[in-house]
Amino acid sequence: MWNVKEKCGIAGVYGHPEAANLVYLCLYALQHRGQESAGIASTNGTEIHIEKEMGLVAEIFNEERLKKLKGEAAIGHNRYSTTGESSLKNAQPLVVNFKYGNLAIAHNGNLVNAHLLRRVLEEEGSIFQSTMDTEVIVHLIAKSKCKSFKDSLIDALKQIRGAFSMVLLREKELIGIRDPWGIRPLALGRLKDAYVIASETCAFDLIDAKYERDIKPGEIIKIDEKGVESWFPFDEQPLRHCIFEYIYFSRPDSIVFGKEVYNIRFRFGVQLAKENEIEADLVIPVPDSGIVAALGFSRESGIPFELGIIRNHYVGRTFIEPTESIRHFGVKIKLNPVKELIKGKRVIVIDDSIVRGTTSRKIVKMVRAAGAKEVHMKISSPPITHPCFYGIDTPTRRELIASSHTIEEIRKYITADSVQYLSLEGMIKATGYTLESHPFCLACFTGKYPLKFQ
Ligand code: AMP
Ligand code: SF4
Repeated sequence: MWNVKEKCGIAGVYGHPEAANLVYLCLYALQHRGQESAGIASTNGTEIHIEKEMGLVAEIFNEERLKKLKGEAAIGHNRYSTTGESSLKNAQPLVVNFKYGNLAIAHNGNLVNAHLLRRVLEEEGSIFQSTMDTEVIVHLIAKSKCKSFKDSLIDALKQIRGAFSMVLLREKELIGIRDPWGIRPLALGRLKDAYVIASETCAFDLIDAKYERDIKPGEIIKIDEKGVESWFPFDEQPLRHCIFEYIYFSRPDSIVFGKEVYNIRFRFGVQLAKENEIEADLVIPVPDSGIVAALGFSRESGIPFELGIIRNHYVGRTFIEPTESIRHFGVKIKLNPVKELIKGKRVIVIDDSIVRGTTSRKIVKMVRAAGAKEVHMKISSPPITHPCFYGIDTPTRRELIASSHTIEEIRKYITADSVQYLSLEGMIKATGYTLESHPFCLACFTGKYPLKFQ
């Protein structure tokens, strides 16, 4: 279900005659990380060319457009705006021409001190062309007193705080960067002699690249004709991988933070079943977000799994609701129950999360209208009580239903017979860690932000 703004997908290729085509395919595999705009920048060794547009990757890039993206290195970006308004000038990669030549940059994550830095920079005379956090980084590099690009980059990065997984393209090099907390993922792969960097490993699978390792938290990796060089210029920080990557954001066929997303999502469902006290006849997932956890739940509980709700995969942003009499299709545009399966049954519905509660409410009503005797909503993560400041545009605290409602009040609102969330402890256990010792950011569940917004 896509109704809250979120994250971005990034990719980079170095050392391949079809670099831009490969980046295009990577972005295609990463489309779930952002559908607002997409862009690719490539270098032919002397200059950088960029193509970007609002819309989906497959809509934006045709053969003609890809042909313009010459050269053996390229980077790309899928955006779903987190900060900054939604418009083409905020689409990435961001390309600049400055004292160090051409530079293209694609960023996944949000900075917590971008506002502060931007104000200072503006007071000092900097002129911004977009409302993106990423532009702050470029200004900091340009203004650095350091003598080389490398030192200026490090100088700039040391001033920013927050989530930043990035790929940078210069005329003759590709650079991958991950913040020292390791908030957002970024992986390194090989395709014969070429190097590939991507948000998720599912991008490597599509182009037959081999996943080598993650770019390490706090690592800057530079790839050029001499090979690969790594720098670790930051002070070491406690790891704070975004656990929501496992709950919802990443594709289940990716390896993220060194573990298979499918396995962990499945184990969330297993753990949810261990914590379950309800008897039921059927487990059905909210497609697609609840499928893997529901499979785990069914396997552990022995309650049969059925695809009791079918999703129309072709609903796009272009859908226009006709007005007047036949309006108000509501959730049925996207989802439709299989009535024969559901009729007369005690049904457990599983989704990954409740944000505002609107999706769950619609689904519970739909399943009940399809004839279910009981509808129990189960969520494979704990209640979201706090917004995210690190690259996921969850709504404000007030709009998050669990920030101001008890479980019983949520149950009433979504009109379910019962509601159960996965416990925080159970969630961490399912990842193979313990509550006392784990590498995760849990701020949207606990309010304990690893980095304060400035
Ligand atoms: P809501 O209707 O506001 O409660 O949203 C809950 C639905 O949104 C669930 O089906 C989730 O799978 C989905 N969801 C959770 N987080 C996000 C996000 N950041 N972006 C898009 N969808 C999300
Ligand atoms: Fe991820 Fe939640 Fe932390 Fe944001 S607050 S980085 S969504 S775990």
